[in-house]
Amino acid sequence: MTASVGICEDDDELRGVLRSALERDGFAVRATASGSEALRCFSEDPPDVLVLDIGLPDADGRDVCQALRARGLATPVLFLTARHALPDRLSGFHAGGDDYLAKPFALAELLVRVQALGRRGHESSGAVLRMPGMVLDPAAHAIVHDGRTVRLTPTEFRLLAALASRPGEVVRRAALLSAAWPAGAIVHDNTLDAYLARIRRKLRDASSPARIETARGVGYVLR
Ligand code: CA
Repeated sequence: MTASVGICEDDDELRGVLRSALERDGFAVRATASGSEALRCFSEDPPDVLVLDIGLPDADGRDVCQALRARGLATPVLFLTARHALPDRLSGFHAGGDDYLAKPFALAELLVRVQALGRRGHESSGAVLRMPGMVLDPAAHAIVHDGRTVRLTPTEFRLLAALASRPGEVVRRAALLSAAWPAGAIVHDNTLDAYLARIRRKLRDASSPARIETARGVGYVLR
């Protein structure tokens, strides 16, 4: 089956370039030019990967991402932004993004990242992981506990699955980074901590008794 990519980019020229590069690479592409169009188009029929510009005329791409996540979108999201500041980058991850590319970027790099996100979106559709206090459902990217289902983004899911595969053991930061992000991705330490904070919140939302503890400077452990 052809993998599909959704694009939301208001710059006509860049949108055209992205579309033809991705189509040349074998992807089925649907391109949108505004946040409202992206919400309409991608919440009903999610692509395998979504490339989302942050600076849109009618919305902030991070808000679009959050709105799509709230509607249950589990698709990996790659943010495009002209802003290089770290706070912006972090808030992209807080908003449920999985990767980030600063403009201007090389098309080759975009293609590699989209392919990596597409693979990662698919590879987690394996067996259900069971442990005391929670069930991890890879098909739904969700924590299931006591009749509650709390959805995770693909990156959050990979991080929690890496911890859940070795309960009671400290999983080192480097192991978590390589489980969750494409090889070569530049991930700030604070980004990992921000993700773990979100996962802890979602465990609480699911009323799961499972707890993630910090082994300061070393890694994290799921109990
Ligand atoms: Ca823009």
